[in-house]
Amino acid sequence: MKTLPGLVDTKMFGAQGVNTDIVIQVCCPNCGSCAERYYLELEHLIRTQCPTCDYLMITCSQTGKVIEAYAPGIFAH
Ligand SMILES: [Zn+2]
Repeated sequence: MKTLPGLVDTKMFGAQGVNTDIVIQVCCPNCGSCAERYYLELEHLIRTQCPTCDYLMITCSQTGKVIEAYAPGIFAH
């Protein structure tokens, strides 16, 4: 069986209910600005990122474990 390019397209555009990612607006825990939280159902990840201060937090939605975290300002002090 060959790779189906249609599957990639479906994921990219979130069509046909395959991509169930959810994005909500949150307050950045680092600088308080508007940040975005992505619920990545397929990867079982929750990703919070702030465009203002580059804050980044990726946690596993199943275990709550922190996969990756980056908060400028917090670690610099
Ligand atoms: Zn921020």
